[in-house]
This record gives sequence, C-alpha cells and structure tokens, in this order.
Amino acid sequence: MSNLPVWDDAAWTPLPRLEGQVEADVCVVGLGGSGLACVDELVRGGARVVGVDAGMVAGGAAGRNGGFLLAGTALFYNDAVATFGRESARRIYQLTVEQIERMAAETPDAVRRVGSLRIAADAEEEEDCRAQLAAMRADALPAEWYEGPEGRGLLVPTDGAYHPLRRCRTLAVRVVEARARLFEHSPALAITPGMVTTPGGCVRCGAVIVAVDGKLERIFPELEGRVRTARLQMVATAPTDEVRVPRPVYYRWGYEYWQQLPDGRVALGGFRDTAEGREWTDDATPCAEIQDRLDVFLREHVGVRAPVTHRWAASVSFSDSWLPLLEEVRPRVWALGGYSGTGNVLGALCGRAAASLALGGGAEIAELLTAAAEHARTRTI
Ligand SMILES: Cc1cc2nc3c(=O)[nH]c(=O)nc-3n(C[C@H](O)[C@H](O)[C@H](O)COP(=O)(O)OP(=O)(O)OC[C@H]3O[C@@H](n4cnc5c(N)ncnc54)[C@H](O)[C@@H]3O)c2cc1C
Repeated sequence: MSNLPVWDDAAWTPLPRLEGQVEADVCVVGLGGSGLACVDELVRGGARVVGVDAGMVAGGAAGRNGGFLLAGTALFYNDAVATFGRESARRIYQLTVEQIERMAAETPDAVRRVGSLRIAADAEEEEDCRAQLAAMRADALPAEWYEGPEGRGLLVPTDGAYHPLRRCRTLAVRVVEARARLFEHSPALAITPGMVTTPGGCVRCGAVIVAVDGKLERIFPELEGRVRTARLQMVATAPTDEVRVPRPVYYRWGYEYWQQLPDGRVALGGFRDTAEGREWTDDATPCAEIQDRLDVFLREHVGVRAPVTHRWAASVSFSDSWLPLLEEVRPRVWALGGYSGTGNVLGALCGRAAASLALGGGAEIAELLTAAAEHARTRTI
C-alpha cells in the first residue's frame, strides 16, 4: 500500500536540513499545523525562530488527516459540559470557533465554511445528538437538528472542511518569508532546556516548543500514561458524482468520518476501535484489516463504487483527560499534543498559546484547559 494521502496533490520545494549550530529565541520542534501556527505567532511577536521537522512540513497527521474543522474538544458538547464544567466548555468552544474563522481568513484557498454533520448510527446515539443539541442551544452555540440523505443528527453551521496539507505548506512559505528559519529532515534527537540537537547540527535557544501529536510520549517519556499513540487510517476515491456530500459527516460517535472534496473525490476514515487494540501502535502505515472495513463501508454505507485511489495512515495521540496537553514539561520546554483525534483546530490554538507563553505572555486557552482538567478531576473523586 502506498500510504500517500489524497492531499499530496502539488509540488513542494524541500526546505534545507539543519547543518551546524544556529541560535534562536525559540526553537519549534515539529512543523505540522500546530507547530506552524506557533512559529507564525512567534514571528509576529518579533522572536527569532528556528523550526525543525523530522520529515517534511506536515508529513505527519497534520497533512494526512480527514480535513474536518470541528469546534470544541474531543468530547461532544454535552459531555464536555458535564466533564469540564459549563464555563470552561463554553469558552473553549467559542475560542475554537474563532480559530476556525481565523484559519479561513488566513488561508481562504484551503478552507470551506460549509458546516459539519454529526449523524447518529442508532437510537442511542440519536438521543445523544438531541442532548448535544440541547446543551449547545442552552449556551447559544449555533446548531440545528438535521434529517437528510446522510441520516439524522446535528448540523453545526460554524464548522468546516479544509485541505490540511495546502494550508500547512502555505503557512510554511509565509513564515519563511517572515524570516523564520525552517529545516526539514532534521529530527530532534535530544531536547534539553536551551538546546535542540539534530543529526547535522544544533539550535541554541531560550525556549523549546515541541508540537508533535503522534508519538509525543516517545519524545517525553515523562508523559507516558497521559498520552497514548494511535494509528488512524483513511481511503480516498477517484472523483465521482454517485453521491453529493456537501459537508463533512461524523458518524457512529465520530469513529467514521467522510467528506467529498471539491473535485468529487470521497475521503473516508474510521474503524480505529474495531481492531481489538491493534490500532494503539506507533506504526503509521495502513493495514489490510482496517482498509478492508473502510472499503466495505464506502460501498455499502456511503454508496460509492468509484475506485479507491489513495490509502494512508498517520499517528495521533489520545490524552487520558480528553483535553490537549499544553504544558511546560521541563524548564522552558513546552510540549503540546494529545488532541485525541481532533487536532486541526485545537492544535493551531494551542500552538499560538504556547508561543505566547514562551514569550512571557499569557494564554486564555491554557488557563481554560487547566480549569477544565481540574473540574474533571474533582468531579471523578
Ligand atoms: C487519518 C487521520 C484523520 C484525522 N482527521 C482529523 C480531522 O478530520 N479533524 C481534526 O481536527 N483532526 C483530525 N485528525 C487529527 C489531526 O490530524 C492531528 O491532531 C493534528 O494534525 C496534529 O497536528 P500537529 O501539528 O499537532 O502534529 P503532527 O501532525 O503530529 O506533526 C508533528 C510533526 O512533528 C514531526 N516530528 C515528530 N518527531 C519529531 C522529532 N523528534 N523532531 C522533529 N520533528 C518531529 C513530524 O514529522 C510531524 O511533521 C486526524 C488524524 C489522522 C491521522
């Protein structure tokens, strides 16, 4: 299997490897959507920034995902309110809606503000969709009941879809023009306060921000048990007019998800939970077991017979709290990740927040995540 995402549809001029010693105010490790938002914020703040990636810009989940832009946390809003507290849940939700608006304004070529659907797979989930709708309405968050060809559930008009790789590459080019120094194929082998070492060189810096979602616990063994790496897999078809899917669809508690791209291709992911734990793995290549399930679902449920042209996988990490991790894990070393499968919006928000913290400022999302985690802890005691 080729493991090539449907998004990899344009040429990319590679960035150099890091050779020798360079200096920076902040070194950002990991150039996915979160790391690039972080670099962008640092540059805007006037910092000298060096960014390094082990592979290519957005070569991880950031350029290989489902392309959903969903507001909120990994928990549906009704669960978020119950788990994190109403005020924190509501404010986090609002910040993520603003982040989607910002992403659309920054990279209009990559973002479609078409809303999203959460479709119930059975009666129990339909009831939960109604509970989510009630919780959102109670907090004046836009959502409406939906019945249509995809099924029954919820329509969230402020969500959207995007081309994740295009957005990341656009941001990378932009921050380089703004004088950030980015290096590809330069894995951080050692991260200590003030120094990041790669095979060809090192970065002496005042602060380090590690924006790596999948395999975060390999970089920071101290996070073992708090974040856990999983593989997510997808397929995409040739352009087709067999179906018309105007907005991304989240199905069966979000385990399955699909969208139709502007050229008619259908991109579908899912079934992580069906392999008896085998998707808790560092392996980021597709496997036949999940790919076969995706094929059947594509034909039988989505109703698409067009040939599958792309099959791919990538690593993400799930957090034990369902909240992203945004933390100073070592002195002047911040770690962010653990988006639990929904890092496109939260990752960019956390990336910007980490930049602000590293520059000595504050970040509302960091405070909200702390308050939400505290609420969840006291609730379960
Ligand atoms: C199949 C799939 C579907 C998904 N669908 C959605 C979706 O529809 N909506 C949504 O919100 N989220 C989705 N996600 C999750 C989302 O893609 C991620 O949470 C998000 O992209 C994480 O971005 P990131 O920049 O934080 O991290 P990553 O994408 O993990 O980027 C980290 C970067 O760090 C680099 N790196 C790793 N180790 C090192 C090192 N030692 N030194 C230097 N660089 C290093 C990697 O090469 C990589 O480029 C999906 C994920 C997958 C895999």
